Amino acid sequence: MTIPLVNLARLHHPLTDEIRGAIDGVIRKGDFILGDEVKSFEEEFAAYCGTKHCIGVGSGLDALTIVLRGVGIGPGDEVITCANTFVATALAIQHTGGTPVLVDHDPKGYGLDPQCVKEAITDRTKAIIPVHLYGQAVDMDEINAIAKEHGLAVIEDACQTHGATYKGRRCGSLGRAGAFSFYPGKNLGALGDAGAIVTNDDDLASWIRSARNYGSAQKYYHTVQGFNSRLDSIQAAVLRVKLRHLDEWCAARRERADRYRTLLAEADVELPVQLPDRDHVYHLFVIRTRNRDALLTRLRESGIGAAIHYPVPVHRQASFDASGRVAGVLTETERSCEEILSLPICPCISDQEMVTIAREVTSFTTKKVADPRSVPTHAPRPQSRRRKRG
Ligand SMILES: *Cc1c(COP(=O)(O)O)cnc(C)c1O
Repeated sequence: MTIPLVNLARLHHPLTDEIRGAIDGVIRKGDFILGDEVKSFEEEFAAYCGTKHCIGVGSGLDALTIVLRGVGIGPGDEVITCANTFVATALAIQHTGGTPVLVDHDPKGYGLDPQCVKEAITDRTKAIIPVHLYGQAVDMDEINAIAKEHGLAVIEDACQTHGATYKGRRCGSLGRAGAFSFYPGKNLGALGDAGAIVTNDDDLASWIRSARNYGSAQKYYHTVQGFNSRLDSIQAAVLRVKLRHLDEWCAARRERADRYRTLLAEADVELPVQLPDRDHVYHLFVIRTRNRDALLTRLRESGIGAAIHYPVPVHRQASFDASGRVAGVLTETERSCEEILSLPICPCISDQEMVTIAREVTSFTTKKVADPRSVPTHAPRPQSRRRKRG
């Protein structure tokens, strides 16, 4: 592979000394679990998101699971989310004993379709998890209005939207709480697994604070059935270094995305839609084409680390058993998972790399008649459903 999907080595290279220094500091101090670095990172990330609290945990999955438990989700409760997400969103609901209820995504972006959410509500519904997929916020005004009308908790899955905004406010601060992952490949990533929950709710924050640490606020006194899911000091120290660069990286991703739009102007693909009132942070640059599998093969043969996020929607995973259900029909989800393709993007992808990728995509997708591989593999869509993106 010559152009990886995300080039972490290149991203970290200029920060190597600073990161080493931060890690050395933790080793000298020896406070590896919930130490000063964790406290400082929590304060800094809460300030960055515009929330009162941030609680560091072990991963994005843990962040979602713990916050769902914190708002009282358990057996018999339904939580609505979308089928086109990473499996962790649904898994978190399953881990509480609750029922994931999967709905379709909206035809313009890839977020929860508010109309589908409304139709999925029953008297068992307790919460909604909007997933801000690929780096762009869901229509949170609509989701919050539905939640308010039905008395539901809104927990944002902000694992792909560090720094993204909706109407000027950061993702994660738009509902009752937001869950983040700092998996290395995310827009803000640790050097291992890590996650966090942000919220303005004091009671929820203090419940989570004790729940992540064996359910104890005071050592060896356990008030709730807690978890061992603590952000460790070394990861927090690394995250503090990287957080200082996050805004600059978000801007670089947007600039790279604009460059792709120019470079792909002649390609016969749909480009990602930029919805109004939002700053997209392009965790992924997802294009669509009817001839996706052949294009993916071609890019991989050329050493380009393109990928599919995600090839199998949650409702078709073996892990999605009788503990969950699908509400309505997932027309958009079924179609998009056949057509989506993520092109390499990161703050440090070079212009030359982008030109190479765009040239491959353009030459492949515009060779309509000459290339037998570009014959559509499934029936054409009805005209009314056809949309031009970009
Ligand atoms: C990465 C991700 C998660 C899970 O995060 P982990 O840190 O890997 O547990 C959850 N939801 C979404 C949308 C993600 O992209």
